[in-house]
Amino acid sequence: MEVSPLYQIKVKCTCCEQQFQTSKVRPSFKKSKGSDTDFCVHYKEMNPEYYVVRVCPFCGFSMTENFSDKMTPRQKSDYYDKLGSKWVSREFGGERDWATAMQSFKLALLCAQIKGERDRILAGLLHHIAWLYREKSDKEQELRFLQFALDAYVRVFQGEEENMNNARLMYLMGELNRRLKKYHEAVRWFGRVINDKKIMDAAMIRACREQWVQTREDMLADKLDLPEELQEEEKKKK
Ligand SMILES: [Zn+2]
Repeated sequence: MEVSPLYQIKVKCTCCEQQFQTSKVRPSFKKSKGSDTDFCVHYKEMNPEYYVVRVCPFCGFSMTENFSDKMTPRQKSDYYDKLGSKWVSREFGGERDWATAMQSFKLALLCAQIKGERDRILAGLLHHIAWLYREKSDKEQELRFLQFALDAYVRVFQGEEENMNNARLMYLMGELNRRLKKYHEAVRWFGRVINDKKIMDAAMIRACREQWVQTREDMLADKLDLPEELQEEEKKKK
């Protein structure tokens, strides 16, 4: 008998508190074929990321498992005013294609903004939307959302929110800057991870070294003057 790659779970809507079903990809069908330097994973067949957002069929409120499960009466009425009252019941519980996945992420983004979710959550959603555009090779939209994600990561860093590994966050800010061709900013973040003696995360230090070299190559390819830190490297090599 063939096993379906999807299985259903029951979740409770944070907004209307009704139960509904949403799909997830079975672990045996999550086959990675590689990942990008900003942690975007590419999958062979089923993309489990398509199923991250849970869309309530009753009120439309869309969330991920990382959303806080509390919502004040004020936030709920805000949601109904801005989105919920216009919601036409749609089913997101079954198999999703790219377009449905994108819709679910954009709904979750709106809901997170209305609900005032933490910047960490917003950054993750924005970054995922950029990855979906990458999958479709829509460079312009990808970069637009990478910039939004970067802005949100910077806010996370400034707010020093809870337990996100700082070296990883700094690496990500460097890497998104590099992808946005903001090379000086990129080098600044990579350098901070490499030079900060308090940082012990060996994997992130190595990643920052690699992307620091990559940034240098990007700048040379774009025929830009190298900042001082990168010139040093140039001299040493000669
Ligand atoms: Zn609901």
